[in-house]
Amino acid sequence: MHWQAVDLCGFGRLTRAPSLACAPYTREALIDTLRHTRDNHGLICHAGGRSYGDAALNSGGRVILTAGLNRVLSFDPQSGEIVCEPGVTFHDLLRDFLPRGFVAPVSPGTGYATIGGAVANDIHGKNHDRHGSFGDQVRWIDLLLPCGEVARLGPQERDEWFNATIGGLGLTGVILAVCFALRRVPSNAVVVRERRVPHLTGFFEAFEEARGATTYSVAWIDGLARAGRLGRGVLETAEPAETPLPARPRRHLRLPVDLPAAVLNPWGIGAFNSAYYHRIPRVGRTRTMLVERFLYPLDALLDWNRLYGRRGFYQFQCVIPDQAARPGIRRLLEEVVRARAASFLAVLKTLGGNGRGLISFPLRGYTLALDFPHRAGTQDLLSRLAAVTSDHGGRVYLAKDACLPRRIFEAMYPRLAEFRHVLEDIDPEGRMSSDLARRLGLRPPPARSASPSIQYPRRHQGLVPPRKMMIATRAEPAPFYNPEREPPAIPRPELLSVEDAKALTVTQTADLFRAHLNPGQYHFLRLLGFHEVVIESAEGMYYTDKRGWRILDLFGGFGSLALGHNHPRILATRKRFQEEKRHEIAIAFMSQYASALARNLASIAPGDLDMVFLGSAGSEAVEAALKLAEKVQGRERSTIAYAERSFHGKTRAALSVTDSEFYQSTFRLLDNRVRIPFGDAQALEAALKRDPSIGVLILETVQGGGGIVLAPPGYWREVRRLCDQYQVVWLADEVQCGVGRTGRFFAFEHEAVVPDIVTLAKSLGGGKTAIGAMIARRALYMKAYGTPKTALIHGPATFGGIGEACATAIEALNVLYDEGLIENSARQGAYLLDGLRGLQVKHPKILKEVRGLGLMVGIEFHDFSHTLPMAIRPIVSLLDDKLKGSLCGFVGSLLLKDHRILVAFTEYNRNVIRLEPPLIAQREHIDTFLTALDEVLSRGVTGIITDYAKHFLKASL
Ligand code: PMP
Repeated sequence: MHWQAVDLCGFGRLTRAPSLACAPYTREALIDTLRHTRDNHGLICHAGGRSYGDAALNSGGRVILTAGLNRVLSFDPQSGEIVCEPGVTFHDLLRDFLPRGFVAPVSPGTGYATIGGAVANDIHGKNHDRHGSFGDQVRWIDLLLPCGEVARLGPQERDEWFNATIGGLGLTGVILAVCFALRRVPSNAVVVRERRVPHLTGFFEAFEEARGATTYSVAWIDGLARAGRLGRGVLETAEPAETPLPARPRRHLRLPVDLPAAVLNPWGIGAFNSAYYHRIPRVGRTRTMLVERFLYPLDALLDWNRLYGRRGFYQFQCVIPDQAARPGIRRLLEEVVRARAASFLAVLKTLGGNGRGLISFPLRGYTLALDFPHRAGTQDLLSRLAAVTSDHGGRVYLAKDACLPRRIFEAMYPRLAEFRHVLEDIDPEGRMSSDLARRLGLRPPPARSASPSIQYPRRHQGLVPPRKMMIATRAEPAPFYNPEREPPAIPRPELLSVEDAKALTVTQTADLFRAHLNPGQYHFLRLLGFHEVVIESAEGMYYTDKRGWRILDLFGGFGSLALGHNHPRILATRKRFQEEKRHEIAIAFMSQYASALARNLASIAPGDLDMVFLGSAGSEAVEAALKLAEKVQGRERSTIAYAERSFHGKTRAALSVTDSEFYQSTFRLLDNRVRIPFGDAQALEAALKRDPSIGVLILETVQGGGGIVLAPPGYWREVRRLCDQYQVVWLADEVQCGVGRTGRFFAFEHEAVVPDIVTLAKSLGGGKTAIGAMIARRALYMKAYGTPKTALIHGPATFGGIGEACATAIEALNVLYDEGLIENSARQGAYLLDGLRGLQVKHPKILKEVRGLGLMVGIEFHDFSHTLPMAIRPIVSLLDDKLKGSLCGFVGSLLLKDHRILVAFTEYNRNVIRLEPPLIAQREHIDTFLTALDEVLSRGVTGIITDYAKHFLKASL
């Protein structure tokens, strides 16, 4: 990265900070730059140049100009959630998202500030009482840590570092991306009410009224008015307007030169302030104005910081808590009047509460901002103002500050010690630093080094400033938006090839899995000894791993492998499809494959289950089915009844009807739902009677996630009868138990009933592709989406009906029938259950129950937490919580280690082992399993646990 000598300054243009700067345009370049740069003076980011003082300056050190990192990385028009790079400005957001009905949730007084700056200073706007500060909006931040690693920080992810980064003045690292939500607005305008307020007391009363009642409020105060008029000014309150104004490009006037200091005499400024006050009619006025004009009034005059002349100006902004605000703000204004320090309009606002950041500025109170031209005596005045602020329990805003004494600063920020602690933790070498950080003692002065690693250009030795001064305010759009500019070369990231992936060792795979996929899950893989398995190939009933182990698969991908691994007809179909260069994305044109698959499913499904939606997962099918049912029933009857111990997926609606507190965690879920017992027709009827808003019933026909739970005979006929009687849409989720698993294509066929909607996925993809389907009764589908007007409400989705997936599913269905796999499932399932019942008789103290239908079988173990032999209690107490109380983990682990057999577990019934082998299973596979299980169970509880512990210890050493 090319470093260039520049002089930077803050927006107040007080001091020049000679620095070496570079301007990366990509995240990769930025990361590379930080990793390869060391400088005794540290490094700070500088983007919009709107910090007034020295927060974004680093005299004698390095500065990364992040304005070019101004891409919006993602945006969700439903929720308004946006992820963007730090150089995106508030003007960028306004230009791109206001036309779509969104604004930044919190904006500073200038649209030229950047999102990176907004986070680093935890900026606030004119709506703090209602919406808090910018940090309150942030969902996560990708931070390039001073050590060169990238970390995602959020309220739940390294919250200490997150809280230090919000308002942390850029000292915790370099912000790479920020996720927050834009706020929806009805139009591009706001209705603004302006009124004169004759004195300060009047303002406090007006603000107290406005605080709870209006979205925006701000006061412009005449800082030179004295005596009875002290603190007079204009109060503006505003609300988003319902109707838009014609969008007009805003005219920006540019101040071409610095105003001579003489123009800034108190009389001139006094006259301006007075005119500003009197321009509002005595009775006030209400205007509708464009959001931009209201939010960013000062941006009408570009480079307005030149108003204060060449010597620059200070801005002082403080906040004083509510209880001390009246005397405090009065004292401040009196000090200003006494000093006859000319200030163009001062700004008074209210703040609603503490910011999230450890050294965030906001607290509940009144904030006053004043500008002072740089003159003799101004610094003394600022010291007095800081002292008054401190005496009243307030604090000074560091984004504006250029001269606050360290002693006073330390008294103002009560969480400073915590912040310092985080800095030591996150940046022990002090790689991030700034002029402000050194001035306030947040970072130590630069250590002298015998051989500085970076040499300044000759003319900068001794820090002689170069002739050309770079004014760090920029009105032009960021370079990224400049159409004339050649796009920067995109460096190729370090990518692994498919061959590289194939060659990864077990350790390398584990490292990448932990680093980028799921470190927490790795913990469980390790507990079971599954972390040593990386599969090389799979065929039929077996996996082969890198060690050459052949592993018999009775897990079957939770029922996704009806045809076994890599069925030759599936491979051949896919190969042919590719060789013929068939097309995949079936969104512009109709697809013959999607149409044929839909027709096949309609032929298989009984009754008028005829209309098909194709997606790529079980959850997606469930979402589609729930939406269809709701559309049919209307809002009034949209309550969904779902069963205890149900599992329907982890997307939001599916999760809402999945009965697991663990999976539901703290997510916001659908609230139109009631839980009923599974397999209890009386309880269902009672619920339908009690709550007429129940219009939808979702049930797995055989519960998989709950631990292979079957409903009692006759239950499904009762479900059908009750749904007819109470006009409820019955949604049968057969994602796991469908496609022949239970010995019928659909499990509900065992009772010769027809639900209203059925979902499928897993084995529909032939073990080779991701595909899900919802099949609905024709009448319901037509009611919901049957007309041209309603057809596009739901689907098509990008990957719905994708070519090769459909071809694969068509072939899978054909194979299923050609090879008699459904009958085989019934046959082998009965054999397996028989064998297991024999084992239950042999090991009654260990096996509690065996149950199942076809090749969907559960083995329930006794909960041994209370019957554990004394001898092995000490071993068990050392084990992970997940393993306590249930033998399943130990048995499963030993089956793999000692017999090379894979079985499945059940997250929320830990006493059940699930068996869902491919439907191609033969007696010999089942015999192998039964013999192995018998052998393991014969070791007894003590033997099982001690053997497990031995294996675990061996693998850990
Ligand atoms: N429904 C049921 C009954 C399931 O068992 C599952 C997955 N185990 C799902 C829905 C969700 O399917 P997917 O994981 O493909 O989203």
